[in-house]
Amino acid sequence: MSTSKTILKAHREITESFHSGINRTLQARLNNLRALKRFVQDCEPAMCRALYEDTGRDYLQAIQLELAIMFVDLDDAIANLASWMKPRSLAVPWTFSMDQCRVISQPLGPVLVIAPWNYPILLALLPVIGALTAGNTVLLKPSEVAPASTRVLASLLPQYLSENVVRVIPGGPRETQELLSLSYGRIFFTGGPAVGKIVLRAAAETMTPTSLELGGKCPTIVGPGANVPVAAKRIIWGKLANAGQTCLAPDYVLCHPDLQEEFVESVKKALVELYGPSRKIQRVVSEKHWVRLNSLLDTTAGNIWQGGKPDKDSLYFPPTLVTGVEADDVLMQDEIFGPILPILTTPDWDSAIAFVNSCPAPLSTYVFGSSEGVRRVIDDTMSGSCIGNDVVLQMAVNNFPFGGVGASGMDMYRGHLSFKLFSHEKSVMHRFRGLDWISSFRYPPLNIRRLQY
Ligand code: NAD
Repeated sequence: MSTSKTILKAHREITESFHSGINRTLQARLNNLRALKRFVQDCEPAMCRALYEDTGRDYLQAIQLELAIMFVDLDDAIANLASWMKPRSLAVPWTFSMDQCRVISQPLGPVLVIAPWNYPILLALLPVIGALTAGNTVLLKPSEVAPASTRVLASLLPQYLSENVVRVIPGGPRETQELLSLSYGRIFFTGGPAVGKIVLRAAAETMTPTSLELGGKCPTIVGPGANVPVAAKRIIWGKLANAGQTCLAPDYVLCHPDLQEEFVESVKKALVELYGPSRKIQRVVSEKHWVRLNSLLDTTAGNIWQGGKPDKDSLYFPPTLVTGVEADDVLMQDEIFGPILPILTTPDWDSAIAFVNSCPAPLSTYVFGSSEGVRRVIDDTMSGSCIGNDVVLQMAVNNFPFGGVGASGMDMYRGHLSFKLFSHEKSVMHRFRGLDWISSFRYPPLNIRRLQY
């Protein structure tokens, strides 16, 4: 059977099972969520091994950065699903006060989830949790760049969840484009902006609502009033988690000139404190990415400091600081997605804010400084999220809406928002069969005194 036939068959079956009402009831949805939780619990060793194979991430980091987050979302969904599913009644004009007027949440249909490689299990399953809470069935397309994680999902998940509920379709761009030629209740894509455009174009052909969770350059401002040693430690921790290959990672620093020297020295100190004298961090994902990062350093006009020696054979790329970077530098063109931290200087809050606002809206903005400075950046800049005096930790608060704005994506998810994103809010009016005189104002001949106006 050719791939196309496999995909058509999977799409047909997952669509039929959706229409059979397989996930409609509260009990069915809870069973699915509990099965998914057992899958994550039981398969932790297999998942952590796969994550190590794909990304070089060690066991505890795999738990910290992927699995633990899923448990929080699963427990929250299991605890709150019954209340999320309750129909919502609403205030109505008196003429309808005898009728039942409610808003009910209905599943959208079979959904397509397309996942990236950088957190290949977490970012595949977080949207699946949302889709299942809402009662949908799912076609899940993990990333071909994380083949071991894809194998775990494809081979072990069916032991916990019926393939009529979630069907994993391994593959790369070709398979994704075939999947995109078909209709869904929603497409949920996490990845880079270039592929995001391909997804959105394809979705236009089938008029499928589409959520895009994209990347971008997350600015990090270090301004007057910052606790510089603490800022440096938090920033470099967030930057180097998963070797900088995190959509929420601080991409570059806008530092007050008076603080730059202390900031750079504090980062160097924090590197030894966090990673030991060798400052050894996780490798990058592939030779392609290693070469891309290395060529950025070949072309930057900034001053490079590296906390180790790059090694192409082992895909090791050391923590790298680049000072003296200008806005038009090669490091400031695209998301770095690696352990290189460019440091620019901005003389005051106004210029830092103006700089951020001159760039496409990022997934997140981070700001370290006085309370007034933090407040100004929160109020005067646009981004998916914003943290004062820390980085990346918004991911640990599962009820925060998660997602981008403008160039960094469309739609927010997690928690109750995921349930709403994958549901259709249907207005339902159930009227009395008789008592027609109550709403007779609508019938001709019209009478101005009887119109509600
Ligand atoms: P990517 O866009 O290259 O790939 C994402 C998915 O698209 C994969 O499943 C891949 O198979 C598929 N794909 C790749 N090329 C395609 C094509 N030509 N046609 C159709 N499908 C195609 O992204 P990536 O490299 O896996 O992930 C890194 C990017 O994702 C970064 O930009 C990062 O910031 C972003 N990201 C965003 C979030 C978020 O939540 N906003 C989270 C993680 C990663």
